[in-house]
Amino acid sequence: MHEWEQEDPLIIERAKGAYLYGTDGRKYLDGVSSIWLTVHGHRHPALDRALRTQSGKMAHSTLLGLSHPPAIELARELIRIAPRGLTRVFYSDDGSTAMEVALKMAVQYWQQRTPGIGSKRTFLHLQLSYHGDTAGAMSVGGIDLFHRRFRPLLFPTVAAEPPYCYRCPLNLTFPSCKMACLDPIERILKQRHRDIAGLVIEPLVQAAAGMITAPAGYLTRLRRLCTTYKVLLIADEVATGFGRTGRMFACDHEGVTPDLMAISKGLTGGYMPLAATLATEKIYRGFLGRYDEWRTFFHGHSYTGNPLGCAVALANLAVFRKERTLARLQPKIAAMARLLRSFKDLPHVGEIRQRGFMAGIELVRDRSTKAPYPLGQRIGQRVVLEARRHGLFLRPLGNVIVLMPPLTVTVRELTRMVTIVRESICMVTKS
Ligand SMILES: *Cc1c(COP(=O)(O)O)cnc(C)c1O
Repeated sequence: MHEWEQEDPLIIERAKGAYLYGTDGRKYLDGVSSIWLTVHGHRHPALDRALRTQSGKMAHSTLLGLSHPPAIELARELIRIAPRGLTRVFYSDDGSTAMEVALKMAVQYWQQRTPGIGSKRTFLHLQLSYHGDTAGAMSVGGIDLFHRRFRPLLFPTVAAEPPYCYRCPLNLTFPSCKMACLDPIERILKQRHRDIAGLVIEPLVQAAAGMITAPAGYLTRLRRLCTTYKVLLIADEVATGFGRTGRMFACDHEGVTPDLMAISKGLTGGYMPLAATLATEKIYRGFLGRYDEWRTFFHGHSYTGNPLGCAVALANLAVFRKERTLARLQPKIAAMARLLRSFKDLPHVGEIRQRGFMAGIELVRDRSTKAPYPLGQRIGQRVVLEARRHGLFLRPLGNVIVLMPPLTVTVRELTRMVTIVRESICMVTKS
């Protein structure tokens, strides 16, 4: 905070397409989709219109005991595009609450399914995971810098090594490793499946960890392990959902259906706070019962399923269809990969990780030893401040420079973004 106070604050007053406009009279390319939210660009006419139309009808009405057309229609649309087998939608307000809902649902589901036993109440997750900033979501999180201080508040979980191939915890190489990092996960499940309610995963990309990408087939193997050991697979698609990885959901790449799935960020195209936890019919049925059995899921927030949010989310999904966003994204994903390839020559670029339109460039002090820059050197922060001087807004994750443009960015804008990133890295890392 002390250092931030000395920086020039950047105040954004308007935005359009891939650009943010500051009160300083300058415009900035939005290189991180306003922290991973914006899908079809800022101020898309169809999304603007949906918001205006809905506000002319009603801004809010509760989902506690009532419903409204945008919530009903959106739930129907979400089921249509979600991995097959997810048939029920529970609304909340942001990624963290969608994850809280998933964790609570999992625990209550097992209590009601096997009354008397009821001991499946802990979670298995990966180290370096990030699922939000509320207490339950932090409990299944594994980023020391964010979570360490709050450990006394969090419930105990089981954590396993992530598939961080660049810094493989087992010192192996893919694919000859045959994903040996899954063996400890299987051992844990074998020993403790009676206690474990769910396995929590960010499918394909552990985003906040620094865009750590899992090898192909990893998710499929986790799905199989969960089925074998009767543990719910909880997919956190908050960052990866809505086209980010090149498909609508990351799970689609491997045809995996989780038992519970959390979505938020891109759900409203970056317009309104809204989230949902999707569940299978099997989970849903576990909550049915006579009134006085109290099998209801007692969880709700005041603004849950807000109509403005649902209306703009519906428009967001309609634009995916109308503008064939995902088809038009594919050549841009290839262009990004091509542009990023040139970074391999930079002496302080350790690894370039890209999955769809999510990219992370890990900077290292010494490429041969992979020795990281000490965090105190703020290397990531210095790179993004340099980029800002050249008209690009970014936000790093420690030593990882993140690039996550809106899906509708043009190849020209994308080229400009990558060029600025490259020049900023060169500038800051030259010794
Ligand atoms: C951002 C994020 C969250 C938390 O979402 P909020 O809306 O910020 O609460 C949870 N999981 C993942 C994977 C995220 O990237």
